[in-house]
Order: sequence, then structure tokens, then C-alpha cells
Amino acid sequence: MSVNVLVTRPSMPPMDEYIEEIKDLWESYWITNMGEKHQILQSQLKSYLQSDNVELMVNGHMSLELTLQAMKLQGEVITTPYTFVSTTHAIVRSGLTPVFCDVDPDTYTIDTEKIEMLITDYTSAILPVHVYGNVCNIEEIQRIANKYDLKVIYDACHSFGETYHDKGVGAYGDASCFSFHATKVFHSIEGGAVCYRNQELGKRLEYLKNFGIDGPESVQDIGANAKMNEFSAAMGICNLRHIEEEIQKRKKIDCRYRSHLEGVKGIKLRQEDKNVQYNYAYFPVVFEKEFGATRNEIFDALAREGIVTRKYFYPITNSLECYHRRFDATKTPNALYISKHVLTLPIYSDLSIDQVDCICEIILKMQRKSLYGTLEH
Ligand SMILES: *Cc1c(COP(=O)(O)O)cnc(C)c1O
Repeated sequence: MSVNVLVTRPSMPPMDEYIEEIKDLWESYWITNMGEKHQILQSQLKSYLQSDNVELMVNGHMSLELTLQAMKLQGEVITTPYTFVSTTHAIVRSGLTPVFCDVDPDTYTIDTEKIEMLITDYTSAILPVHVYGNVCNIEEIQRIANKYDLKVIYDACHSFGETYHDKGVGAYGDASCFSFHATKVFHSIEGGAVCYRNQELGKRLEYLKNFGIDGPESVQDIGANAKMNEFSAAMGICNLRHIEEEIQKRKKIDCRYRSHLEGVKGIKLRQEDKNVQYNYAYFPVVFEKEFGATRNEIFDALAREGIVTRKYFYPITNSLECYHRRFDATKTPNALYISKHVLTLPIYSDLSIDQVDCICEIILKMQRKSLYGTLEH
């Protein structure tokens, strides 16, 4: 097989299609600041994400930061450390204090049974993550939020296009933040969006992403610059045309991995929730002790064959250097355990079935080696 299998690779539309899409920009000279492409992509996403309220952003991270700002939150935000660093940074950079709740050992999403004990007089919001596209326990989170009058902001960066009970995931909570980064299932090179419930919030997001400017001579708030430019929006428009095919190809890869790895002793895969329509963004595998070979050994063995996997998410965010030991990762033991045992395997639409077979063969060989001390079985 060919070496250099990356963990992910951006899906590219046919080059001609993109060139065709951006031609107008040489006529209009309108290349950023909510031009025509921006409007088109926004309206297409309203339909695709099944949400009347979609605000485009420059990336997923600023979607989170500006949503927190637009909600005028203060104090503490309950979240999970089992996520990309952006989630935690967005909270801290907004002057808020993250309070880390452990995750469920099977779905890796926030453990709703542990939320209430973390609520104090200072808690203003819950910021859960649909990690790997595993949809959180939405009903229970909403019940708790209603009981304590808290906002709910989902980090939905992994769950583009997913539905839960036949509704777009962005329809739940007060807001959901998506990322359209090149490595995500759907991308606009860099980009993001917020689906929101409340119209006032939408208005604030709209001016916050443009320095807080809400009229020719009026600056309403201390905003940032988080506008999506026209070249990115054009890439989004092209990629959206191919999204169903993209997800179907990923689904095939997911199935193929499962055909090799499901039921193998010491290997834990995602249990599918029948109420969720997945986007197959990631293929996380947890290697438990009974597997024999450790996560790091498997990572190294694959790397020797030119196959890049990721220890995603390791380290967890409450143990990062930059937080100067402000948090204690041992208080979120499930997240800590998973971070030390998980490996996300390569998945992208043009990864071949042969490559998947080869990756699994290397993994299973590691198991035979550790169980029998030989590769000859
Ligand atoms: C990608 C990602 C982000 C940040 O999105 P960007 O578009 O890269 O800024 C935030 N949270 C999670 C969980 C992500 O995967």
C-alpha cells in the first residue's frame, strides 16, 4: 500500500468548479464583508442545518468566543476537558472560569449525572461538546439548564450536518458553534457558524463579528473581526454540493473499520445511538489493557508504516501547561483514562478500502504479537 496515510485530508471540490464559483469576485471587487457568497452560503446552510438562524464566522473558535460574549455571561461555565483546546481557551479568553465535568465512559460527552454537583451561585452556562460527533445527552442537559436558569452553548464543531431525532443538532440549546476548518467534514478552508435560538443574540453576533459596528456611525459593543471572506464562502458553497457524497464515503470507511475491529478483545468502538444520523467525522478507538499492545505502541507501529494517527484528545485541556496547574485532571478520571488509551484512525473520503484493511492488519498483528509473542499466527 502507499505510505503516508494522513489522519485526515481536506476534501477538495473539482478545481474548475471552484474557479467558476469565484469568477464573479473579479467583477464585483467585493471580496469580504458579507458579500454575495456569504449571503448564499448562509442561506444554504440554514436549509442544510435545518436552522432559521445561522451566523457565519471566520472560524469555529471565534464562533465560541463571540457566542459567549453575545450572551454577556459571567462567572463559571461547566464544560468538559475532553475536547480540542479551543473549547477551553474560548471560555478562559472570555474572562470566564471553566469548571470541568467528567465525561461518560462510553460516549465521551459530558456526564450529565455529574453536572448538578458542580453548579454554584456563579454558574452561568453549560458548554458541552458533541465530541467525535457523539451527540450529548441533550434532554438531561436542557432539564438541568432550565432548573438552574443556565444558558447552553454546544461546541458542535464535530457534528456538522448531524441530526438528532430528525432535527439538526444546531436546533438544540441556546446556541451551537460549528467549525468549517479544512480538516472538518465540511469546510470553507477556515470558517465557522453559530446556530442560535434568540433573535437578540443573533443581532449581537452580527455586529460583534464586525468590530461591534451596527451602523455607519454607531459602534454598539467591543467586537472582534470574525467575518468570513468571499473566497472561503465560495469554497463552502462548492463543498456543500458534495456533502452527501462526502458523508457516504466516510460511512463506508467507518463500516470497513468496524468489520475488522468490532468485537476484538480490548478494543472499544463508538456505540451508535439510533436517534442520531452521524457524519462519520472521526474514528476513535480505545485500546484497553486486555488488547495487549498499548495505545502508544500502536501509534508507533502505524507511524513506522507511514500511517499517521492522532492521540486525539491527549492531553486533556485541564492538564495543559498553559493553565499552570490551575486545574486538577485527576478530578475528571474518565476523561483522563480515555485520553491515555484513545487513538483516532485515519478517515477521509478518498481513503481507500485497501488502506483501511492494511491499517487494521497492522493493529491486529500488534495484538497477536503481544498475546503470542510472535507474528507468525
Ligand atoms: C475544530 C474545533 C474547534 C475550533 O474550530 P476552528 O474552526 O479550528 O477555529 C473548536 N472545538 C472543537 C471541538 C473543534 O474540533
